[in-house]
Amino acid sequence: MRQAAGPGAVGRDRVACYGARMTMPRIPRNQAEQLLSNLSRDLDLASPADILTAAHHHFGGAAAISFSGAEDVALLGLAQDAGLDFRVFCLDTGRLHSETYALLQACRERFANGLQVFFPQATAVEQLVSAKGFYSFRIDGHSECCGIRKVEPLRRALASAPAWITGQRRDQSPGTRAQVPVVQIDEAFSGDDGTVLIKFNPLARWSSSTVWKYIGAAQLPFNALHERGYVSIGCEPCTRPILPGQHEREGRWWWEEATRKECGLHASDRS
Ligand code: SF4
Repeated sequence: MRQAAGPGAVGRDRVACYGARMTMPRIPRNQAEQLLSNLSRDLDLASPADILTAAHHHFGGAAAISFSGAEDVALLGLAQDAGLDFRVFCLDTGRLHSETYALLQACRERFANGLQVFFPQATAVEQLVSAKGFYSFRIDGHSECCGIRKVEPLRRALASAPAWITGQRRDQSPGTRAQVPVVQIDEAFSGDDGTVLIKFNPLARWSSSTVWKYIGAAQLPFNALHERGYVSIGCEPCTRPILPGQHEREGRWWWEEATRKECGLHASDRS
């Protein structure tokens, strides 16, 4: 039986190794393209631990792990196992499940005392909800709300990062993530000053079951909603459990077409 997240779910001693606040400038595009060429060749079949090690080798603690779900917990565990210190942040959209907050707290205690939390801009949320109500995404799509509650805070979170590390898997979404490489330039969040943001996807080649095997073996905390049929977990009003045989993305924005089921955090991966 897996152990759900919560105050009692912190099974090991607190490890305060993820409070890194190191900063490093982004690298110029031509330099990044050369680096990417080398890394793509070296890391194509590498393990997640080796990919994390390469990210740390090149960007140190300035590389950031954006933390939200099971895959990100696995990344934190893998980084901890390897003794690697990364900056860790999460986005609080204001619409998360209470179980997700319990997971964030459990991981804060277990891994990341320095966990940075980014909220949406209050004025933008006030204007959206005042004008369109609390469920506008059910009427005119989730892009506007996700843009305010997720993408803008992520842009701020990444502004000082030369690289970020995500938990994307190729089998997560056949329509949008099937081609996710282990390392890439993130065009969506690179600036217009000639420098770029490098994105590492150490779990690109892992399946969901591999992630869960690792979480179970390492006794890592996880979102209690996973025990109630939820697989891919986002905001409370936009997430529901799925039935056996359904793809995990069918539990997200189920009122929209499958090809639109991204929130903008990984916009450059759409195919
Ligand atoms: S997932 Fe839903 S509630 Fe959350 S930011 Fe997107 S549209 Fe808004």
